[in-house]
Amino acid sequence: MSHYKYVILGGGLAAGYAAQEFVAQGISAGELCLVAAEKTLPYERPPLSKAFLAGEKSTEEVLINEPSFYADNGIVVMSGTAVTRVDFKQKELYTTGEGDPTIGYDKLLIATGAKPRTFNLPGSALSNIFYLRRIEDAQQIRQQAAEARQAVVIGGSFIAMEVTAVLQSRGVQTTMVFPEERVWQAFFTPRMSAYFTSYYQDKGVTILPGTGIASFAGHGRVRQVITQDGQALDADMVVAGIGVKPNSALFEGSGLQLKDGYVQVNRFLETNIPDVVAAGDVTLYRDLVFERPLHLEHWDNARSQAEHAARLMLGIRRAYEHVPYFFSDIFDLSYEFWGDTEGAAQAVHRGRVEDGEFSTWWLAADGRLLAAFVLNRPDEERELAPAWIKAGKKLSAESLRRPTALQEARATMGS
Ligand SMILES: Cc1cc2nc3c(=O)[nH]c(=O)nc-3n(C[C@H](O)[C@H](O)[C@H](O)COP(=O)(O)OP(=O)(O)OC[C@H]3O[C@@H](n4cnc5c(N)ncnc54)[C@H](O)[C@@H]3O)c2cc1C
Repeated sequence: MSHYKYVILGGGLAAGYAAQEFVAQGISAGELCLVAAEKTLPYERPPLSKAFLAGEKSTEEVLINEPSFYADNGIVVMSGTAVTRVDFKQKELYTTGEGDPTIGYDKLLIATGAKPRTFNLPGSALSNIFYLRRIEDAQQIRQQAAEARQAVVIGGSFIAMEVTAVLQSRGVQTTMVFPEERVWQAFFTPRMSAYFTSYYQDKGVTILPGTGIASFAGHGRVRQVITQDGQALDADMVVAGIGVKPNSALFEGSGLQLKDGYVQVNRFLETNIPDVVAAGDVTLYRDLVFERPLHLEHWDNARSQAEHAARLMLGIRRAYEHVPYFFSDIFDLSYEFWGDTEGAAQAVHRGRVEDGEFSTWWLAADGRLLAAFVLNRPDEERELAPAWIKAGKKLSAESLRRPTALQEARATMGS
């Protein structure tokens, strides 16, 4: 059995940034081991539905750190090694690794992330139906897109929107189909959905809201997507972006506290097991900005929690306080989002929604700013949004609508 002072379980985004933070804080060679089911060293996932998918970035360009980083810093990386069982009492992980499958730890970081939800419908085993999480998925989609004439993308939120944008830009006639009444209904206001719908339609995308999927048809490979309202959509390829579920089956019955499959951590990111912390998509954590349990599936959350968790393992114990942040790129648009819209009583738009130059500000019933979305707006909006959300600032809809309000607010802050 090999034994390490610090072990990271999971080789994704959180694992990569945790390793980076361990090095930044200063560890000795041989102290840290990373056990990762994937064969590729920790890489950025956002490019998988953007520049990597478009063929503009290579595998080397999306790695969080170059291979030499791990070697130079004495980090043991067990790639292509899945952990199949944990024994928290013995502080041991059992893996698929050959030769020496047991790894002992003093302190453990769980960063097993999430995996895509998949269809279990007639025809869902046909080839050319893809789900996007790993670099191999993106490579296959990229390859098929080079030959495909038409694609169906299933889903109405960010992965579906991003994949649609790349496929359509690459000349694949793309249809987006989803059961909700409008694009990203759970997040966008009706005006935002209307703007993005017409933006996509102007790019030649067909948007089909309001219907689920009944089955897939084809021989060997998919040829048609059959919707629940009876439409048959021709497709050379299908990409489904229908959500994710946490990679936590491994921990069932282990004593680790799970809620709806998520690893429950406290405000420090500690689990209920001594010397075991968790970070990233797999966690349900106590958010201190909103004072409630929160689960996020964002790059920034994975990175910030991972860095925090690494410091915690090294003995720097502070509460994790961070304003949630998310970004996305679609066609030639980039937007950013801070906070969380849950509990919002109203949403106020600034700027010109219909022209794609706007921000949206979600307010609670008492006026507290909960969340903000910013697309093509002046810098002060990007700066004020996270600061005000963190401070729990109360705003009125009238003041937010005033065109110069934020400019003035920033000037006041600076003085
Ligand atoms: C295509 C795509 C585009 C995205 N774009 C954006 C974006 O634009 N903006 C944004 O904010 N967020 C984006 N995200 C979300 C962001 O990438 C995730 O929030 C982030 O990857 C979560 O990091 P993680 O380390 O928690 O999980 P992951 O990155 O999923 O890593 C988990 C790792 O653990 C490994 N693992 C699981 N179980 C085991 C086991 N038993 N043994 C060993 N290893 C195991 C997995 O193989 C995986 O490598 C995107 C995600 C995807 C998939």
